[in-house]
Amino acid sequence: MQPPLPGETTEIRPGLLWVRMPLPFAPGHVNCWLLRDGDGWLLVDAGGGVPGAEALWEGIFAQVLQGLPVTRVLVTHFHYDHVGLAGWACERWQAPLLMSRAEYLLTRLLLAEDTAVLMAQQRAQGIEAGAPDGYLRFLASRAPLFRSEVRPVPRHYQVLAAGGTLRIGGRLWQVRTGRGHAPEMVCLYCAELGLLIGADQILPRISPYIGVLSLEPDADPLADFLASNDEFRDLPEGTLVLPSHGEPFVGLHARLDWIDAHHAERLATLAAALAKPMTAYEAARVLFPRVMEDSQTGFVIGEGLAHLNHLVATGRARREWRTDGVATYRRARAED
Ligand SMILES: [Zn+2]
Repeated sequence: MQPPLPGETTEIRPGLLWVRMPLPFAPGHVNCWLLRDGDGWLLVDAGGGVPGAEALWEGIFAQVLQGLPVTRVLVTHFHYDHVGLAGWACERWQAPLLMSRAEYLLTRLLLAEDTAVLMAQQRAQGIEAGAPDGYLRFLASRAPLFRSEVRPVPRHYQVLAAGGTLRIGGRLWQVRTGRGHAPEMVCLYCAELGLLIGADQILPRISPYIGVLSLEPDADPLADFLASNDEFRDLPEGTLVLPSHGEPFVGLHARLDWIDAHHAERLATLAAALAKPMTAYEAARVLFPRVMEDSQTGFVIGEGLAHLNHLVATGRARREWRTDGVATYRRARAED
């Protein structure tokens, strides 16, 4: 299936269109979906509020909606590449916003939080991780990402929760949620069509980013991610998965097996390296030896911490605090 060019759409099924919006960072795009729904269309994800994105949407609206409005805007999770233009689309069409509670409240929190507080919290996470001074200086110079890419969202919304159903275009879609990449990411499954809108939970070529948020420093998002992936194993192998990044694919169980094996291998590599005590930054460099850009260091540390917290939670590593406030980690079992 050919990905749509910017400003165009690819028909997945009659009344289900694939839209691709540009992103300034890897992987360079995010997939959004338009579903024919009664007298209008339901939009799934809106892309990031990056220059030119509204104009691309206007072109698509003019070309493919057959004169009908967008009547509902559903956002899978709070990351800027998904929620960014949702508020704009809701206002443009006077359409309600549909989100899970955790994703909506986190969006509101990040839009309302004092930028200086957010930056200070991220800096503190970097210091505890033993990040280099160059990265800490970069943080101080950087524009805060979230608010510059995310338009204000409506002050009220319709709550989606796991186990619920949505009727879209006369068909029933199950609401499922994925954890780990985001706390309550909405995925939609339609048994009649054999389709899963999988958001970032199950991606075809990469494992989604699993990181520790500075507001939950001791969380184990990797455990959440692996456990919630297992909840998708009841879906048929023939399900067509529509991911937010990359191309639609068939082979859900094979993909889940690959993701499990990938993280098991990463954990084993890290546990073995922790024979020598390391800071979180040093441990993250074991997992990501090639990533050098300051703009990526926060992700590298977040994902390193996710693997470290999981090793600590499962008794395979221990965390100790140095007198300078930096945490170090060491292997807890000889067999690792
Ligand atoms: Zn994404």
